[in-house]
Amino acid sequence: MRKHLFIILFSVLAHLGFAQQKSISITIDDVPSTTKYRKDHFRPLLLNVLDSLKVPFTIFINEDKIYKTEFIVKNKDLLEQWIKNSEAIIGNHTYSHFRYSEVGFKSFVKDIEKGDSLTELYAAKYNKDLKYFRFPFNDLGKDSTQHIQIIEYLKSKDYSIAPFTVESSDWMFDTVYQYYLNNGDTEKAKAIGEQYVDKTIELLNFYERMATSIYKRPIKHIYLCHDNAINTDYLVEIISRLKQADYRIVSFEESLTDPIYTQKDTYYKKWGISWLYRYMDTQEERIKWMKLEPSLSEIEKVYNKIQNIKN
Ligand SMILES: [Zn+2]
Repeated sequence: MRKHLFIILFSVLAHLGFAQQKSISITIDDVPSTTKYRKDHFRPLLLNVLDSLKVPFTIFINEDKIYKTEFIVKNKDLLEQWIKNSEAIIGNHTYSHFRYSEVGFKSFVKDIEKGDSLTELYAAKYNKDLKYFRFPFNDLGKDSTQHIQIIEYLKSKDYSIAPFTVESSDWMFDTVYQYYLNNGDTEKAKAIGEQYVDKTIELLNFYERMATSIYKRPIKHIYLCHDNAINTDYLVEIISRLKQADYRIVSFEESLTDPIYTQKDTYYKKWGISWLYRYMDTQEERIKWMKLEPSLSEIEKVYNKIQNIKN
């Protein structure tokens, strides 16, 4: 019942001209990719791309990446460059990217607390707030007990949970993309890059249709992707396609002003699904929509094949 009141309120606001224009914010997880940084001769290529696009973006940081290569001083400098960028909103993504449902409350909380030490230092230096938290794998716990426990903890620490509405398995496309590039197969790599762009737009269109069907208006979307090679090479094209489709690229904070994000997340399983699904009342409704979702089976097949070759 409350849900229906919400939706009526949303449509009234829509008729008053609220949030009529399509918009999306860009969020980037697993920052900073220090292995990529070394490979790119210590040039922050994705950051440079974002800088040249002049769009707002938000980053979710795993500080253990600083220690993943031997170039710790350089890696710290990379993190500082990300944080000091005037367009960057920053967030904690835990220190080591554990799965909450696997490691449990105690270890997970420890990892959250370990995850913001350098970030807080740089945040203070550049006068930035550190108030967002994104779960690794968007795993909010295996059941309602774990889920409620961590939400209470984050609230007590003044952390806001970072939602997303759209993702397109960029990490899977990236693995395949890099595999072809490493084998010198640039044509195949390019085809994967194009597929990634097309699939991202197709998925966004699907989530837009779903949101419009539920809320009777375009909502403020949040795109989730990662600090990786395929975004370094193809985010420009994605942004250009979004602009062609009349999307405004807005900040994460602007996205969060959409009242849809005040709804309760009632999904108590570990899977990293879109917040549009989490706000649905029943699992039946989620499944009904999930069945209509554009398929990623083509890239999954290639990805699995490559994983088999690698192992
Ligand atoms: Zn992540």
